[in-house]
Amino acid sequence: MNFDNVLDTLNIGVIILDREMHVQYWNNWMRVRSGIEQDIIIGSDISKVFPNLNTPAFLRSIKSALRFGNVNYISRKMHPYLFPIKTYSSFESQFEFMQQSCSVCPIRGESDSVTHICITVQDVTQLAIYEKKLIEMNLKDSLTGVYNRRFLTHKLEDELERHSRHSRSISLMMIDIDHFKNINDMYGHQTGDLVLKSVADEISSVVRKNDFLVRFGGEEFCCILPETNLKSAMVLAERIRKIVEKKERKFHNSDNVRITVSIGVYECKDNNNSADSVLKKADEALYLAKEAGRNRIIALYEGSELLPRLDK
Ligand code: GH3
Ligand code: MG
Ligand code: MG
Repeated sequence: MNFDNVLDTLNIGVIILDREMHVQYWNNWMRVRSGIEQDIIIGSDISKVFPNLNTPAFLRSIKSALRFGNVNYISRKMHPYLFPIKTYSSFESQFEFMQQSCSVCPIRGESDSVTHICITVQDVTQLAIYEKKLIEMNLKDSLTGVYNRRFLTHKLEDELERHSRHSRSISLMMIDIDHFKNINDMYGHQTGDLVLKSVADEISSVVRKNDFLVRFGGEEFCCILPETNLKSAMVLAERIRKIVEKKERKFHNSDNVRITVSIGVYECKDNNNSADSVLKKADEALYLAKEAGRNRIIALYEGSELLPRLDK
């Protein structure tokens, strides 16, 4: 029996190169996934067809296979993909290119010297999608889709450290829905959940890409604002206050659900702040905003007296 075609039946890509990196074999999997026919690629220098292969890691593994007969694995963590193969289904579209786990193995000739290199390419896109989802689930709040408290603790420590290392501004915002208990009492808990999701979306629509919005607890959100001084943080807080106040929310057959938020803002200026102490300060400002009558913003900064609230 002739097994020549076995490599064409495999559910992985197989490429064989000679010592000059010219393609000697390109299996069916590679043909279908890359759209490059065998008669086009056979004999070509692979690094010319795929210039992105000229990375130190890939070239090192080729060298190590040719010189020392070593087997090298190029994991997705190291290189999300070696061959830029577009993903096709919409489910996979969160990665533009197929995520790959590759190996580079020597093939020895009769004199035991390495005459060829065999590269295998495994499609690990599904795994990468699940991994991404798992990481997100661990760090995101399932109801609102914004970050959760577990994320906050780590992120805030990191950002404070960056702030003190580079002497950059950093501010924090605590946002709490006013009289939220009444919403649950009037419209039911389910509608309350929808309101929470809506408020998270409203805040997300205003904050910048580099800010981190976190659901801190029940109806309380926290926003880390890197590279932001108190003045800019106050402007952002006012935009949030306004957008939430103006929003008319209609769920099922309910009336328009109108709500307001109170916001505490704190700019951190000291270099030795812990995440806990910064959160406490922002929470203190929030408490003062509640005390002052709700639907307003109170700001505090290091060593400051209370700042007057922005006019509505
Ligand atoms: P304040 O203006 O002082 O903040 O008043 P409040 O009613 O918003 O605050 P309070 O702390 O008295 O009540 C918070 C309410 O938020 C009570 C709780 O049932 C509700 N809540 C917390 N988490 C959730 C949730 O996940 N879904 C819903 N629907 N309600 C929640
Ligand atoms: Mg509240
Ligand atoms: Mg609260």
